[in-house]
Amino acid sequence: MAREGAGCGLTQGPKRVILPVVEHGFPLRALVVGAGIAGMQAALEIANAGYGVVLVERLPSIGGRMAQLSETFPTLDCAQCILTPRTVEVGHHPHIELLTYAEVEAIVPEGTGFRALIRRHPAYVNWDLCTGCGYCQEKCPTRVDAEFERKLGKRKAIYTLSPQAVPNKPVIDQEHCTFFQRGRCRACERFCPTGAIDYAQEAQLVEVEVGAVVLATGYELYDLSRMPEYGGGRIADVIDGLAFERLLSASGPTSGKVLRPSDGTVPREVVFIQCAGSREPERHLSYCSKICCMYAAKQAMLYRHRVHEGQAYVFYIDIRAAGKRYDEFTQRAMEDEHVVYLRGKVSRLVREDGKVIVLGADTLSGRQVEIAADMVVVAPALVPRPETRRLAGMLGLPTDEHGWLLPLEPNLHPVETIRPGVFLAGTVVGPMDIPETVAHASGAAAMVLSLFSRLTRAAEERDG
Ligand SMILES: Cc1cc2nc3c(=O)[nH]c(=O)nc-3n(C[C@H](O)[C@H](O)[C@H](O)COP(=O)(O)OP(=O)(O)OC[C@H]3O[C@@H](n4cnc5c(N)ncnc54)[C@H](O)[C@@H]3O)c2cc1C
Repeated sequence: MAREGAGCGLTQGPKRVILPVVEHGFPLRALVVGAGIAGMQAALEIANAGYGVVLVERLPSIGGRMAQLSETFPTLDCAQCILTPRTVEVGHHPHIELLTYAEVEAIVPEGTGFRALIRRHPAYVNWDLCTGCGYCQEKCPTRVDAEFERKLGKRKAIYTLSPQAVPNKPVIDQEHCTFFQRGRCRACERFCPTGAIDYAQEAQLVEVEVGAVVLATGYELYDLSRMPEYGGGRIADVIDGLAFERLLSASGPTSGKVLRPSDGTVPREVVFIQCAGSREPERHLSYCSKICCMYAAKQAMLYRHRVHEGQAYVFYIDIRAAGKRYDEFTQRAMEDEHVVYLRGKVSRLVREDGKVIVLGADTLSGRQVEIAADMVVVAPALVPRPETRRLAGMLGLPTDEHGWLLPLEPNLHPVETIRPGVFLAGTVVGPMDIPETVAHASGAAAMVLSLFSRLTRAAEERDG
């Protein structure tokens, strides 16, 4: 039952909406933070068991990193095709309250559960009126770099992340909107057929009581700017793995054609560099990012599928392909697609005459290698998102020295935390591929369901 949240010690905001909670003396609903594949999996498992879920996503739409991928190893399934049914199910699920473009501002323990305050950023679009027709985006005159496309494509000042966005409702980026910056334009408002544009919309604070919290805030890539040896993000046609995923994606900025960002030509020689920042304790990070061997093999293979006469090279330290059919997959890249694997590190990248000169060592032959590449794809280490530390601080959860959240105990309690009722799902604990992320998130959901069932039984016994 809904009740006022006075006296919980949380900051007050411009508006407050109290969501009703399921009646039982305690809230039989979970808060899931982060709607990547981990958060969505956990939310669906809990919701399908009949319990409520509040799913909070900081971006305007759900899907996380998986929504940016082209095809997935080792099956080469189209990522969007397997993801979209999930995002749609989450978007329509009667037990899931989806709060996108929102962030958790505070969580405090209360009774057997938690009280959370969530800030919904203003979209400046009334999503109840918006039909997702896309007119506003078509008519908006401002084009800016699209973060979702890793800046290889453009979006408008009013935008959705992708054509498959769930929810398919746009937001206005105040920083680039001519109306917000200069007080004129209003093109989106003029052309919106349902009158949904609302420049006066304010942030909304949503307060919710929950019985459990699942943290699924995922990962980031170690920034190229921190690695001068790989160009520091300043050499044209040196991009990171996620940017290459966007080039490979049918819905990406080049409609799936592999083209050089600098001049739109087809690259004939592409070098993939693994372990950029990973396993480099002296300069960068000590740990292995676990998925790069597989996605570099996938990307080299997909590049060869798109550019038959192209040559792909992969620089690696050693190949870690320990999942089911993973080793066979990397073998396929070498044998069927003729990808040249060079064991060794790249020492430097130099731009010269429109090429990227890759200087490195082949430790198997003991030779120095120099490749004049048309494009270089770097696989940076996976790192935790900075906001995860803030959430950990709110809940008093420990992180490791790199900022990954620590489970209660890594062997037998990989999804529980030191705080009862708080669980971890997916790459918030460290690098994982999609199958492992999904299994981990299902584990977190199972722990929530077990907690709710124990609380329900105890309440039934108590109430006779
Ligand atoms: C280049 C590349 C290629 C890959 N290819 C493959 C592949 O082919 N096959 C495979 O199995 N794996 C692949 N992966 C790995 C795959 O991306 C991950 O396993 C998967 O996306 C992890 O999902 P997640 O939900 O844990 O994290 P994420 O996808 O990062 O989702 C986390 C979500 O939480 C949200 N969030 C973050 N902070 C907050 C906050 N404070 N409040 C609210 N929301 C928040 C984020 O916006 C995001 O939506 C690849 C990875 C890379 C980098």
